[in-house]
Amino acid sequence: MTRSIRPLVAGNWKMNGLKADLGIAAAVAQGYGAGLKAAVDLAICPPATLLFTASAALIGSRIATGGQDCSVQPSGAFTGEISAAMLADAGATFCIVGHSERRTLHGETDATVKAKAVAARKALLVPIVCVGETREEREAGEALSVVRRQLEGSVPEGLDGASLVIAYEPVWAIGTGLTPTAADVAEMHASIRADLGRILGEAAAAGVRLLYGGSVKPSNAAELMNVPHVDGALVGGASLKAEDFLAIAQACA
Ligand code: PEP
Repeated sequence: MTRSIRPLVAGNWKMNGLKADLGIAAAVAQGYGAGLKAAVDLAICPPATLLFTASAALIGSRIATGGQDCSVQPSGAFTGEISAAMLADAGATFCIVGHSERRTLHGETDATVKAKAVAARKALLVPIVCVGETREEREAGEALSVVRRQLEGSVPEGLDGASLVIAYEPVWAIGTGLTPTAADVAEMHASIRADLGRILGEAAAAGVRLLYGGSVKPSNAAELMNVPHVDGALVGGASLKAEDFLAIAQACA
């Protein structure tokens, strides 16, 4: 963790969740007691269909919500797209952009991710920009340079610590149960902080929350969250169980 940074644990529900599953968010709110509130921020990124209802249900809980993606366009004839302003209007504070599933399954380039992050900021959302290498890239010794290239291409200039979150998510760790070693996470997060220093300036970079994501669960959260420059977690599968999500938050606190 970075002492001067308040950690954030964000849950990415992906394409999971019907109205009946909002009980998960309610249970998280129930378990987010004074001790946790004093120590860690929480956010839930449900599917867009649940965003308004989840946001309304979480008013007063101090748990933020976020979108999982947004359009690069502000409005217009873009059937099926959801603008950042619509997410904000539905109650969102954050918006995940450049998740590896979007990059891989929807062919999103760094330029697209950057345009989405810019669109998110225009709507006053805080973009959670995801970066991460594939297994092949790590084995080839290219992990740091791949993530550096992604950051240079995906992070808009001019943002500060309050208006940007980065999630380092090795592609090979997402949903697989595999995680990098603490040493590898430490090396990557230190490198990301330095890269952001070159992109945003040292002062801004020092305040950006750097989340680790990829198979975070209660059993490995404490070790991962104790790594320097890890300022929280982006949690997929385990965010669908209130108990597990809260246990991960506890590991941050
Ligand atoms: C994710 O989808 O952002 C993620 C980290 O998933 P999981 O925790 O399931 O690996």
